[in-house]
Amino acid sequence: MKIRIYIITCLLLLSATVFAQVPALERVEPMFWWVGMKNTKLQLIVHGNNIAGRTVKMNYAGVKLVQVHKVENPNYLFLDLDISHAAKPGSFAISFIKAGDKNLTYTYNLLKRDHAIRAQGVTDKDFIYLIMPDRFSNGDPSNDSFANMRETRVNRDSMYSRHGGDIQGLMNHLDYLKDLGVTTIWMTPEIENDEPHASYHGYAVTDHYKTDPRYGTNELYKQYVEKCHAMGLKVIKDLVHNHVGTEHWFIRDMPMKSWVHQWPKYTNSNFRYGAVTDPHAAASDTKQMLDGWFDRHMADMNQNNPYVQNYLTQNHIWWIEYAGVDGFRLDTYPYNDAPYMADWAQKVKAEYPHFSIFGEVLDQAPVNEAYFEEGNTVNRGFDTHLPGITDAAVKDAIAEALNGKDGWDGGVNRLYGILAQDFVYHDPTKNVVFLDNHDMDRFFSVVDEDFNKYKVGMTMLLTLRGIPQTYYGDEILMKNRSRPDGLVRSDFPGGFPGDKVDKFTAAGRTDRENEAFNYVRTLANYRKNTTALQTGKMMEYIPQKGIFVYFRYDAKSTVMVIYNSGDKDATLTTDRFVERMAGFTKAKNVMTGEQLPAITNININSKGALVLELAK
Ligand code: CA
Repeated sequence: MKIRIYIITCLLLLSATVFAQVPALERVEPMFWWVGMKNTKLQLIVHGNNIAGRTVKMNYAGVKLVQVHKVENPNYLFLDLDISHAAKPGSFAISFIKAGDKNLTYTYNLLKRDHAIRAQGVTDKDFIYLIMPDRFSNGDPSNDSFANMRETRVNRDSMYSRHGGDIQGLMNHLDYLKDLGVTTIWMTPEIENDEPHASYHGYAVTDHYKTDPRYGTNELYKQYVEKCHAMGLKVIKDLVHNHVGTEHWFIRDMPMKSWVHQWPKYTNSNFRYGAVTDPHAAASDTKQMLDGWFDRHMADMNQNNPYVQNYLTQNHIWWIEYAGVDGFRLDTYPYNDAPYMADWAQKVKAEYPHFSIFGEVLDQAPVNEAYFEEGNTVNRGFDTHLPGITDAAVKDAIAEALNGKDGWDGGVNRLYGILAQDFVYHDPTKNVVFLDNHDMDRFFSVVDEDFNKYKVGMTMLLTLRGIPQTYYGDEILMKNRSRPDGLVRSDFPGGFPGDKVDKFTAAGRTDRENEAFNYVRTLANYRKNTTALQTGKMMEYIPQKGIFVYFRYDAKSTVMVIYNSGDKDATLTTDRFVERMAGFTKAKNVMTGEQLPAITNININSKGALVLELAK
């Protein structure tokens, strides 16, 4: 997420003497676990009033209480368990005992793992659709507001308020997404954000184990994943390691001072990746980048603290096992502690080898993107184990190819040159290619609402290497600039009770919106059935006279993409592309279905793109 500063009351940092009043046994997390996990270790966090004054007893075959940790705050205990591979599913009591006081008991459940087809992974065969659940569709008006939550009122007139969208609303429109050719849904975080202001965006978690009631329940989230899987769709869960909301229960009553990064006075991150990647960086700059807070209402987690490490890692594994999600998107990746994130990724992959992970890295230079990716050629001295990154370099280069002036490094030559730097990546096919997201100008506005450019951008999105990701509403030409970012997070028209138009249906869309929708649908569905565009190799040619030509190909098919960035219609003579075109004599225009009678000369409109499947 991008920089966002709100003026709200500053967090009162933990003072060593004042602890919150909490119930005798407020919670135990993870609230349940499974037998048969590869990693037999589990650390429970126990929160309750003066719980550290009690002794802990438990007895269950195959499970050992290895150690009980007391920390600075007596309202916490951390219990190290070893759940051996001999342990059977079942439940047992964990007792917290104090002489002269009544025992407190938590019933701990160990479940059997569900080995159905889950955690499939998201690859370059997929097409990701990003939504903000508050803004997509309200399928359950009964959960719009809760009097006991800090932001009590739903208000669609304010871009910063909750609008009432929810998981049920998304579930009601899975057919629409399936029809569009989407294979994977990435929803911005749906876990509880009980903050007093602008909580709808989801990046200020206040309870790691709870779906925000305004979106639904954990059970509904699980049903949503199951429904997606039954329809052949995959689910990405959005995680934030770096920070949590200041109203998080464990921030309001912190286990210890080192739970978060502490500063003498409020200090935000400098938001400069350079302070991480730069071999000449001043240590103070690096520290501020990593340990500075993202925002006053987002406490910066201390990922060097082993209790924090266990808490986050276990929570994420819990969600994979509980809900069966297929991949994680990691928010604000470069702001995290790198060794911890590498360890985290290895632990996740040890349990779920097919799981997919990509990190939010937003830099115009491939080298700075690759720095955060696993096994790259940059060689920073250790392996991040992060398989994929968000390819901001390609995103910016596509915008330059569409809007820029043709020149040695300008216009479409920028895109050519950026793709030519793919050698820095361990595997650029794991890069997530995108035109926009919830923090950025919407793509239709990036191209100044030029419909031809819009179609070219969508063409590139769906034909370049990598995993394409679009943003809700781009397919119906939703527009706006991201200052302020609420403008790019408008409600999907038709998703909310009382909406005057329903753009989920062809009848509710204008002719041009239907043209856009059909363009994306045609290409996405073609891509879905064309392995050359999914997993095929790529070959690009140096642009000439503003015309950029690249191929995606495999043993089954060869797809040629031509983009004319020039101001005039042109005829492309194709003898230069003999390496890829030898043996082919015909071509089909993928978008129109028309056959080209000959392919020695191909007409291409100004600011237009052609996607051609070559034939013998
Ligand atoms: Ca609702």
